[in-house]
Amino acid sequence: MSAPARIDLHAHSTASDGTLSPADLVRAAADAGLDVVAITDHDTTAGWDAAVRALPPGLTLVRGAEISCRWYGVEPAIPLHLLGYLFDPDEPALAAELARIRAAREVRAERIVELLRADGVEVSWPEILAGAGGGVVGRPHIAQALIRAGLVASTTEAFGPRWLGERYRLPKEDVDVFRAVALVRAAGGVPVFAHPKASRRGRIVPDELIVDLAAAGLAGLEADHEDHSPVERAHVRRLAAELGLLVTGSSDFHGTHKTVHLGAFTTDPAAYEAIVAAGVTPVASG
Ligand code: AMP
Ligand code: FE
Ligand code: FE
Ligand code: ZN
Repeated sequence: MSAPARIDLHAHSTASDGTLSPADLVRAAADAGLDVVAITDHDTTAGWDAAVRALPPGLTLVRGAEISCRWYGVEPAIPLHLLGYLFDPDEPALAAELARIRAAREVRAERIVELLRADGVEVSWPEILAGAGGGVVGRPHIAQALIRAGLVASTTEAFGPRWLGERYRLPKEDVDVFRAVALVRAAGGVPVFAHPKASRRGRIVPDELIVDLAAAGLAGLEADHEDHSPVERAHVRRLAAELGLLVTGSSDFHGTHKTVHLGAFTTDPAAYEAIVAAGVTPVASG
């Protein structure tokens, strides 16, 4: 009997804030012994084609994205991430929304740099933009500039309250999460709530919101993730069972921007098959 498939449904490339190119990401996924990997860059599908072209034999690619969302049910609104899998990247409404968020991210990142510079912190916007290499710019790229300047020792420290976690944190222009679920579904995709109970990242949403999202078309919850404690993972599983949602597990690999490895958390084959069956874009096989 062959071993069960190893399926990692959440990974970033240089198309957003990962450090491996899409081609290197799929090669690394094969080297890590994965059978299936999803490319889920923040707010973009720009890495999809290069990942497909480089797909090693035996590896299956799930094309997706991680959409920057917000829940406006409380004040101030809570930011959250929605994974969209196997949607049509040319569906105009979703594509337009992703383009809008990407543009807003650039404005926001430049403003953060201006705030830092106003306090005498010598970081350069052109250098940070170049560091993003044409990919979607995010705080990890600013964190790299702080590391280069010798102001912090690690990305984790850069995300502390003295820096990008609080003092120099500016909100993004995110999508209302109900709208994002509807947009992903309308584009033929499968929406899964990424790390929904990751309290160590910041404020989390109540279960009541997840109940409402399930009624609005949410397909699943990411349970196994490094930012979830064992108690949080169990809670997410229980909630998914109650609501009839599928459950995923993933590394949320970011290359050297984080310490987690590809395949550190994986998804059950049955949940993966359900996602594939529900999506409009076929998986790609190398
Ligand atoms: P942004 O999308 O610009 O708000 O930046 C958020 C991104 O930064 C996340 O997608 C992670 O990749 C990364 N990130 C968030 N919190 C941390 C942290 N505490 N340590 C390291 N990276 C983080
Ligand atoms: Fe990220
Ligand atoms: Fe995320
Ligand atoms: Zn992610």
